[in-house]
Amino acid sequence: MHTMDAPATPHLQPARGIRLVLGDQLNAAHSWWESPDSDVLTVLMECRQETDYARHHVQKVLAFFLAMRSFAKERIADGHRLHYLPIDGPDAARPMLDVLRDIVTACGASEVRFQLPDEWRLDQLFQEAARSWPTELGVEVHLDDTEHFLTSRTDLADHFQGKKQYLMESFYRKMRKQHDVLMDAAGQPEGGTWNYDANNRKKLPKGHVPPAPRLWERDVTVLLESIHGAGVATVGRVDAARFGWPVTRAESLELLDLFVQELLPRFGDFQDALTEDSWTVYHSRLSFAMNAKILSPREVIEAVERKWRETPQHASIEQVEGFIRQILGWREYMRGIYWAKMPEYATLNFFQHDRKLPSWFWTGKTGMRCLQHAVTQTLDHAYAHHIQRLMVTGNFALLAGIDPDEVDAWYLGVYIDALEWVEITNTRGMSQFADGGIVGSKPYVSSANYLHKMGPHCAACQYNRQGKTEDDACPFNSLYWHFHARNRDLLERNPRIGMVYRTWDKMPAPHQQALLDRGDAVLANLESL
Ligand code: FAD
Repeated sequence: MHTMDAPATPHLQPARGIRLVLGDQLNAAHSWWESPDSDVLTVLMECRQETDYARHHVQKVLAFFLAMRSFAKERIADGHRLHYLPIDGPDAARPMLDVLRDIVTACGASEVRFQLPDEWRLDQLFQEAARSWPTELGVEVHLDDTEHFLTSRTDLADHFQGKKQYLMESFYRKMRKQHDVLMDAAGQPEGGTWNYDANNRKKLPKGHVPPAPRLWERDVTVLLESIHGAGVATVGRVDAARFGWPVTRAESLELLDLFVQELLPRFGDFQDALTEDSWTVYHSRLSFAMNAKILSPREVIEAVERKWRETPQHASIEQVEGFIRQILGWREYMRGIYWAKMPEYATLNFFQHDRKLPSWFWTGKTGMRCLQHAVTQTLDHAYAHHIQRLMVTGNFALLAGIDPDEVDAWYLGVYIDALEWVEITNTRGMSQFADGGIVGSKPYVSSANYLHKMGPHCAACQYNRQGKTEDDACPFNSLYWHFHARNRDLLERNPRIGMVYRTWDKMPAPHQQALLDRGDAVLANLESL
């Protein structure tokens, strides 16, 4: 295992070319790294511009810096010239491109290369450098592809040209065919069905405890001191003597192998399950490694499909398709939405929600057991699985009418895998329906029924999952109806929601009023739930 000190930074020597690698561009298979060129210097920076655009979980900052350090050392070992600027160095608080500009000048470079960033805010900066640096600095500026995704930034928009709603399923089927993933010899989907989601919604059987997650225990005390010593404000907790996330390429490959061998056989079955016995269930935890580009989506998909073809009895098609759809489908789809809809997407607020996020989202101190569990786990591990994000915290935020800016800021900060292109599309789009139905065809909301069906939280909760209007009734129950009643104008023509309004209309008026009153009381007391 590497020591995780920053690579030593020698005095700058002349270089013809300067390249910048961002913390989420750690793709060792990129063509930049094919053969070392002694006239090219690559720069990696730990900087406040990136640590401070959101209030990040401490484990997220650690994971990115550790991954960058490991990546840099591996490239140096391969013979590349590298300039690494650590967070406790003199330039860390300066804007990234000001620092890079000084390096370009100091090295007398004639060419600067970036990899296309995945965030709109950085894209703007790089595009501006590409416009102005040729005349200001006398350098050629190139933006190269990251060679990571299976689609270009614009493929999805081209696929859906002229459509209001972007159906993921149609994009996914096209991707399956185009990349020949889980297709049979006749060009049909393996198993005869494109999507096995309907089979994949099981609760964990009583007493069933998923395997404990593998942790890579590493002492990060020194780096943590540098981060906090530099003034970076973080959220969440870490055991600095035993930091558990895999951050190197070798560790990420171990995580992938462990997923394929041990978790894949039950991934689909339990992908929606909630539990208090495991923070990972059968999920892969591969999102950080993929989002930092340490692993490519293609190699993850190939590893899973290969295992299924070689040993079909190891994991059924339901599990395998369910997993591959997340990456070949959802992940590429969200990226396409991001580039099709930014920057407007970040301002969308379909319901005009404007409430503040309750402060217990940052502490876990609420009596609602499901939320207490999901938030506490998030603060402990910088991780929650999809259904916790969508149907626990996201569901609550939407029903409670929280301002999507506040919801986005939370999700962008607290998760180890949170990068705006995939965070905002999932949060503002899929979870908060703030885009009015570009990503989802209806809001993902539920009462306590769904939460009870999928896990054990309700049984241990101080609120009564069956109560509707009483003081101890689960807040989800009244908020569910309150949300639909107050947004009737916006939602009732949606064919997927008609049933909800038919049920509401059949309720006696006093019961409707009692639900609305209880909903009002809950909304007035969000802080103390
Ligand atoms: P697994 O369940 O093992 O899934 C495998 C992989 O599929 C993931 O690693 C991920 O790369 C991909 N994937 C699964 N679902 C999605 C999805 N909806 N969109 C894109 N890719 C998906 N994912 C992020 O990577 N970063 C985020 O910031 C992020 N924010 C989210 C916010 C909300 C409100 C919601 C509802 C979902 C968010 N997701 C995000 C999607 C998903 O929840 C995470 O990718 C997943 O939980 C990561 O854990 P895992 O690697 O164990 O995933």
